[in-house]
Amino acid sequence: MLDKYVGVAKDGSFEVKGDMRAVYQVMVNTRQGLVRSMHGLLHRASLIATRYAVCRKQFANLDGSPGERKLLDYQTHMQKLGGIMSEAFIMGMTARYSDRMMVQMKKDMSAGNFALLDMMHHLSSGLKAWYCLMTHLGVDELRMCCGGAGYSQYSLLPAISEMVSSMPTLEGDTIVMAQQNAKLLFKYVKVIQGKR
Ligand SMILES: Cc1cc2nc3c(=O)[nH]c(=O)nc-3n(C[C@H](O)[C@H](O)[C@H](O)COP(=O)(O)OP(=O)(O)OC[C@H]3O[C@@H](n4cnc5c(N)ncnc54)[C@H](O)[C@@H]3O)c2cc1C
Repeated sequence: MLDKYVGVAKDGSFEVKGDMRAVYQVMVNTRQGLVRSMHGLLHRASLIATRYAVCRKQFANLDGSPGERKLLDYQTHMQKLGGIMSEAFIMGMTARYSDRMMVQMKKDMSAGNFALLDMMHHLSSGLKAWYCLMTHLGVDELRMCCGGAGYSQYSLLPAISEMVSSMPTLEGDTIVMAQQNAKLLFKYVKVIQGKR
């Protein structure tokens, strides 16, 4: 597969045949894969926590009724669930947009045009950093939204939480990835200021 870019002759000599910038595409591709998959995990955890909030009732504090109040009817609870769910929707929408950019970048690269690679590197770094962190923190919050049940394997939340807990670190730590993204933003600030 890599024969397109490099080759090793029978005498052991190494030859670079293609444009080695293509190697960067592998890392960008993996990061974009994470960007693409985070919102699905956050949606799944949101679904579990929302279903729980509809069924679980706590405290008889409804005026004129001996019945208990659904968790979903507590404003503080709705704020937690609603906020995280909207984050998951936004993550899904922007991931689809950056996916389309990724497809275009690959098409351009196979025609020898690497113009989008720099942008995709910085963009996928920033999205990877924030989406992985938001998903990790979001799933943890959703787990707490289910009280003690969120710690039971039956809820599936411990498995999702374990899966996403390494995401902010793997394929580039959050801070380091965010710095990559910040570099691009600073570059554009200088362009706007007319310094470059
Ligand atoms: C579950 C899992 C699976 C993995 N799988 C693979 C794999 O298949 N293949 C592979 O090659 N690697 C793999 N890794 C390694 C992963 O890519 C690295 O762990 C990750 O890139 C972080 O690098 P590091 O471990 O060197 O941490 P470091 O970069 O040393 O980070 C340690 C701490 O220092 C901070 N830090 C580092 N640099 C800076 C800076 N410039 N400014 C401020 N703070 C900084 C970080 O924020 C972090 O808190 C995996 C890691 C995990 C957790």
